Amino acid sequence: MTDATDPLLDTTVSCRECGRGETLIWGPQRNAALASRQLCFSCDHWYMHIQMDAGENKDRFVIVERTHYLMAPETGNMRGFGGRAFAIRFHDGREVVSRNLWCQGQIPAHFISRMPDNAVFA
Ligand SMILES: [Zn+2]
Repeated sequence: MTDATDPLLDTTVSCRECGRGETLIWGPQRNAALASRQLCFSCDHWYMHIQMDAGENKDRFVIVERTHYLMAPETGNMRGFGGRAFAIRFHDGREVVSRNLWCQGQIPAHFISRMPDNAVFA
C-alpha cells in the first residue's frame, strides 16, 4: 500500500549493486530502506538473504545450482513444492531430507561470489 505523504514515493534510486534505476513504489518503510541502502528491491532481497544465511537461517539455507532455498519445519499442511521430498547433501557433510522446501529464486550473477552453492540434491 502506498502512502501519499511518503516523500520518497515515485522517486528513483540508482542501485549500487546492479546499477538499475528503481522507482520507489513499495510503501514508506521499504522506500526509506531502499533509499538509504541505495539498493533496488531485488538486490535488497538478496542482501537480506546473505545476512539471514549467516545468522538465523545458517542451518537451513540451501543453494543448489545458483538457486536459493530454505528448509522450513516439517509441520503444517502448507508445504513448499507441495510437500515433495528433497534429499539434500550439503558440502559440509550434512544429509537432510526436507518435505518443506521453499524456493526464493535464482541468485543474480553479481551475488554468486557471495552466495556460492552449499549443497546438491542427492
Ligand atoms: Zn539492484
